[in-house]
Amino acid sequence: MWSRGIMNTTVRTFCSVKLKPAKSFGSSLAEIFNSKPSKHNYFGRSEKTGLFQVPELSTPLGFLQLQKECIAKTEELIQEATSSARTRKMVEIFDEMSDCLCRVADLAEFIRLAHPKREYSRAAEKACIAISEIVEQLNTNRKLYDNLKKSVSECDVTALTEVDKLVGELFLFDFEQNGIHLSEDLRKKVVMLNNTILNLGQQFVGGSDSPRIIKKSSIPTNIQHLFTCDNDNIIVSGLYVDSSNPITREIAYKIYYYPDQSQEILLENLITSRYDLAKICGFNSYSERALRGGTIDNTTDVMNFLETTSQNIREFSNFEFKHMSTMKKAENFSGELAVWDIPYYMAKAKRDWFQVTQDQYCPYFSLGACIEGLNVIFKNLYGISLVNSPILDGECWSNGVYKLAVEHETEGILGYIYCDFYERPGKQNQDCHFTIRGGKELCDGSYQIPVAVLMLNFRAPTWGTPSLLTPHNVDNLFHEMGHAMHSMLARTKYQHVTGTRCSTDFAEVPSVLMEYFAADPRILRLFARHYETNLPIPEEMLQRLCVSKKIFTACETRMQIFYSALDQLFHSEDPIKNNESVAEMQEKYYGLKYVPNTAWHLRFSHLVGYGAKYYSYLVSRSVAHSIWHNYFQSDPLDRKQGERYRRECLAYGGGKNPKKLVSDFLRMEASPKVFANSLITEISENHEIVRKFVDKYKIC
Ligand SMILES: [Zn+2]
Repeated sequence: MWSRGIMNTTVRTFCSVKLKPAKSFGSSLAEIFNSKPSKHNYFGRSEKTGLFQVPELSTPLGFLQLQKECIAKTEELIQEATSSARTRKMVEIFDEMSDCLCRVADLAEFIRLAHPKREYSRAAEKACIAISEIVEQLNTNRKLYDNLKKSVSECDVTALTEVDKLVGELFLFDFEQNGIHLSEDLRKKVVMLNNTILNLGQQFVGGSDSPRIIKKSSIPTNIQHLFTCDNDNIIVSGLYVDSSNPITREIAYKIYYYPDQSQEILLENLITSRYDLAKICGFNSYSERALRGGTIDNTTDVMNFLETTSQNIREFSNFEFKHMSTMKKAENFSGELAVWDIPYYMAKAKRDWFQVTQDQYCPYFSLGACIEGLNVIFKNLYGISLVNSPILDGECWSNGVYKLAVEHETEGILGYIYCDFYERPGKQNQDCHFTIRGGKELCDGSYQIPVAVLMLNFRAPTWGTPSLLTPHNVDNLFHEMGHAMHSMLARTKYQHVTGTRCSTDFAEVPSVLMEYFAADPRILRLFARHYETNLPIPEEMLQRLCVSKKIFTACETRMQIFYSALDQLFHSEDPIKNNESVAEMQEKYYGLKYVPNTAWHLRFSHLVGYGAKYYSYLVSRSVAHSIWHNYFQSDPLDRKQGERYRRECLAYGGGKNPKKLVSDFLRMEASPKVFANSLITEISENHEIVRKFVDKYKIC
């Protein structure tokens, strides 16, 4: 509830430059991103500032000061919220309180993860802990809850708008997640269960990628050398999906996924605790609790969506499986196609059919070219430019960070994106979008400018060679930039629902939509040029690349459906607890035989983070595909559609019920059937594209 967003209200460094045009340093974006950032961003600046231009953060001690100011401000706002002389709406006070806490917590959380210097990350960690303590206290403040409840359900100082009501209800729901409305006994139980769930989840995730050690003698002598050996033991720390020998893949699969009793106990306890928590809070299942307020908001509809999609793409996935079986036979291997063969043949097909190797493609995708490409897309769709901005001494946590101002042609600067793109020792290697400060309407009528960080892991440029991206890197860059634009283009009254702070099953829509742009030849042609010769990417290579993104989408989708269905059933009214049910579900939804004595779900760490929401990715993809199909496919640079998408979709963030947002924007019902149809259409189109391509180039 409170722990999303950032920064103290006294800091106004960003707002002061709001309406001035951004100054660009260096020449073109492509040139800037193709050389070391320091060369363009750090020159001639002598002022010393703090992290993110927050003056207090020029030393690690500043976190303590921010924390103190935040506590004082929160207390003041509590006074206001509980005063009989209150003149502002409860939800307005709550959002300001949330903003005040989030601006410290989110910034601190980012610095804790990203700052290479220990004294900064420790100070940030302490601030995170201090803020979560305040949040815990707030969560038990009955008077705050009662006043908010009264405001939402009865009346407030002035009438509530639809957005006030929606955001007020979100705050109320967060309170109730912590059991504030229950008797003291039950409330304590809720707190205890929340802690237990957190602990069990952490332990389960920790154990989900631990390697397996077995005696060397337990596997055939002729393949022992293929595994990592330690004296008499063999260490299996992954699935060997790249191995061309199916026996190696099979053995690795069976060892790696052999049921681990401690993981089994952790998962069972986690599921039971979640179920108990949901029951105490008045729900029939944990899934019912988790799905509230989503684009699909109940278990029956999620299962309907999964079932309908699964049934209707079966013929396509069977075709794909059959094709993989043929590939297996062609390699002179007998035996049925098994679950461990799938990733191997997917990768092999991409290599063989389309000859997509990284070495061939990377030179056409220098980081600079890609950023320039994004700039062209955004300029066409929304009339905005990405402008390289100077970085002050002390503003960033590391060298090699760029700062982009997102500048609209008439509205001025809409926000800032810090680009931490290069790998470095100790950096977490997951691609991420962080909201450092959420946008919101301020009391004086101005708008709090959003600030975000994109963290990616590209190879740093060297002398003379820019950072060259693989096609997969390009997809990731576009994806994360989709999240960033959601943050930048949202214009919500409240920061609690700005940009990516929306329902989980809508949050991936803007990012997945960007992947459709990255897979379109007309878009890639705009920017894919050789970094040395400036020649455009050869047309055949371009076509091969785009088609390669469309192969085997049916079996990939069925696998995701299987994961999603299992996640639902683990969190249903009658949670499944045994391996037989997992086996049954694998065969039903995935279409591949379950392997006895294996339990892949004990390594499925997403069960912790998503908990009954793993289906979100499929729904987001379905919505993104409909948006692409209906509005951008015929002309991906159409300003009229870009503006509509901005005003009717991105601008709302989570400030409009996602079901309503999607149905209003797409002009169709947001039903499980409609969502399923979108995926079915996409897969069927993909098959047609691949078929034509295979015929044309006489592949296989
Ligand atoms: Zn994402």
